[in-house]
Amino acid sequence: MTSSAPGVQPVLVCASANPDKVREIEQILAGLVDLRPRPADVPDVDETADTLVGNARLKAEAIRDATSMAAVADDTGLFVEALPGELGVRTARYAADQSSHASDPYGANRAKLLRALVDIADDRGRRARFVTVVLVSYPDGTELFVEGECTGTIATAERGERGFGFDPLFVPDDGDGRTFAEMSDAEKNSMSHRARAFTSLAVALRSRSPMS
Ligand code: IMP
Repeated sequence: MTSSAPGVQPVLVCASANPDKVREIEQILAGLVDLRPRPADVPDVDETADTLVGNARLKAEAIRDATSMAAVADDTGLFVEALPGELGVRTARYAADQSSHASDPYGANRAKLLRALVDIADDRGRRARFVTVVLVSYPDGTELFVEGECTGTIATAERGERGFGFDPLFVPDDGDGRTFAEMSDAEKNSMSHRARAFTSLAVALRSRSPMS
């Protein structure tokens, strides 16, 4: 396998249009990847696969097909020990169930999770992990994917104003007891599932042939 030429950044079209996620991805990949925005006219992709990899593939291939360029997509699941099968690959749908009529969909999702864990006081049942899969799909049909994980605990009440999604409830093991929402972007990006996955992607891209 040959290495990419030094200083030449791989060009990838980002399949996500979610501004919270795109901001994090841009910060993590700054200087490493020439990230292009998702074309506005590509319709949303239904996440119908039963794995994170499968959903990331559906999203990446849709953008690859629309642009004829290499496309990168990520899919994240929150896996909560006391709630097997309820979030995970369906985390976005857990969200959707609650959010269709809510003005604050992320807040409604967090409230649902807090209610589901109300009788679970022990740290073991509130143990959780975020898993992010990042997949690049190339016009020649090849792909590469990597994974990042962040373990932690679901707090008993929301703390912090930053971040998005479940950030005010997630206390990462590698932090100092604060939730992701109490951290700066740089602090979250130093330990998050998404940062770990995209950092692994940057490493994998460096050893991939520039022509493949
Ligand atoms: P997605 O597959 O990346 O869209 O993630 C699915 C759901 O997981 C989102 O709708 C959020 O509720 C949640 N989520 C994903 N990433 C994060 C994160 O970094 N912090 C908090 N919640 C997240």
